[in-house]
Amino acid sequence: VKKIICSKCGSLYDPASNPVLCEKQDFGRLDLIYDFESIKESLSRSSLRSRANREIWRYGELLPVEERNAAHLFEGRTPLIHASRLGQKLRLSNLYLKDETRNPTSSFKDRAMAVGTAKATEMGVKRTVTASSGNAASSLAAYSAALGLECYAFVPDNVSQGKLYQLHVFGSKISRVSESKESAIDPTVKLMLELVKKEGVYPCPSFGPFNPYQVEGPKTIIYELVEQLGWQVPDYIFVPAGSGCLAAGIWKGINDFLEIGIISSLPRLVLVQPEGNPTLVNAVNSGTPFEDIRRTQIPHSIASGLLDPYPWDGDAAIKAVRATKGTAVTVSDEEIVEAIFDVASTEGIFAEASGAVGLAAAKKMSEQGSIRASESTVVLVTGSGLKEVNRLSEFFQNKKE
Ligand SMILES: *Cc1c(COP(=O)(O)O)cnc(C)c1O
Ligand SMILES: [Zn+2]
Repeated sequence: VKKIICSKCGSLYDPASNPVLCEKQDFGRLDLIYDFESIKESLSRSSLRSRANREIWRYGELLPVEERNAAHLFEGRTPLIHASRLGQKLRLSNLYLKDETRNPTSSFKDRAMAVGTAKATEMGVKRTVTASSGNAASSLAAYSAALGLECYAFVPDNVSQGKLYQLHVFGSKISRVSESKESAIDPTVKLMLELVKKEGVYPCPSFGPFNPYQVEGPKTIIYELVEQLGWQVPDYIFVPAGSGCLAAGIWKGINDFLEIGIISSLPRLVLVQPEGNPTLVNAVNSGTPFEDIRRTQIPHSIASGLLDPYPWDGDAAIKAVRATKGTAVTVSDEEIVEAIFDVASTEGIFAEASGAVGLAAAKKMSEQGSIRASESTVVLVTGSGLKEVNRLSEFFQNKKE
């Protein structure tokens, strides 16, 4: 890492000082800028081919912390599946699924938390804290456990059972927080910040403004899938969005590989949100600048992982869509549930709702003729359905009534 710049105020930080939050307290994200000229010397298609390391640490030059600080739960290296049966159904002959349900705690958040907690170890901190609707918290809890760190989790009242029990068994200190539509800031985030300020606990939620290191984990999805496609860049990548941190990471990964010369063209990024929380989709489609986005009062959807009332990394997510000439679409709960069954019954993959929104969107765009059948399409399946079987059964219960 060559330098660190705040995305809001432009303040510069020395990477060696391990900054986590901007000192101006402006909720800017501290963007890590790498020295691509020197990274180019060791990282190339051929050097990657010869590396035995299969974890995200395979891409060590592009990560902000040394591998020796890591927990090694074997996150990453998830399969890229050519979904020919689902593709037939959706009329997409080059449909690929990046199956992130195979990560240690069953969501892509493990990539983020692996990096965030490795940094915690490097900095010598002993306590971590998160604000999350589930997956980011259960992942932080697992990695904290594996590294002997104490973990505090502020989660919403209606957190899914599977995710809550992961928190229990990994031994984190759990606070369930009821929603509030009055407060300007998400109440779980507010409580997390209090603990950071009062007790100096290391914040590690899955949004950039509160931890810039974990942002670097999800970008490894791009590195892997480009290599898995034989160094081809797909025409489309479908990315679910809540806070926008994943989309920001995907964009960063694309940009890194462009800078290093491993790829030379851009995939179109399709940002997908549920109809009940369309902050970023609306901003993209109406041209609203990031600064003018207001939090959703009461976000609602079966896609519980995409209900962040405020898109903390929306600036980067919106930039990603514009820069790649992509699009942004919403999907309904009905469409999401249909997608869960489609991918399960044709490919044998059980996705959670938040992990199936990309498929629902790909189906919609194919039906509308916005994607041609032969165009290569990668859909990120971001989390496992086993985490929230209760929500799926509630969905059908409500439908019957
Ligand atoms: C967190 C999460 C997302 C979205 O990520 P953001 O970074 O909040 O936009 C998508 N799918 C699953 C399963 C998640 O847990
Ligand atoms: Zn700042």
